[in-house]
Parts: sequence; structure tokens; C-alpha cells
Amino acid sequence: MAVYKCDICGWEYDEDKGCEELGIAPGTPFAELPEDFACPLCGVGADSFSEA
Ligand SMILES: [Zn+2]
Repeated sequence: MAVYKCDICGWEYDEDKGCEELGIAPGTPFAELPEDFACPLCGVGADSFSEA
């Protein structure tokens, strides 16, 4: 699975791991994140992420 990186601050979302602090289960594809997903560090939306 892929890793997506925030263009602003560099925080990474790893599809294999999900994001426990955001309540996202391991194995959740980036495309299936909630519509209100935002970077936990800088707050930008999914539009500002790029596949790493
Ligand atoms: Zn960020």
C-alpha cells in the first residue's frame, strides 16, 4: 500500500498503518479517508497530500 505525504509539513499517512490518533484503522486507503480528514500537524485537507 502507499504512503501519502503532506505537501506543507511533511507528515506522512501510511495506508498500512492507518492513523491511531485520528481513529483510522490500519489498511485504510487514502482515498477512503473521511471527507473532513485534515493533517494532524498543520490542518490542511487531503487535497494537499501527494503520494510519497
Ligand atoms: Zn501537514
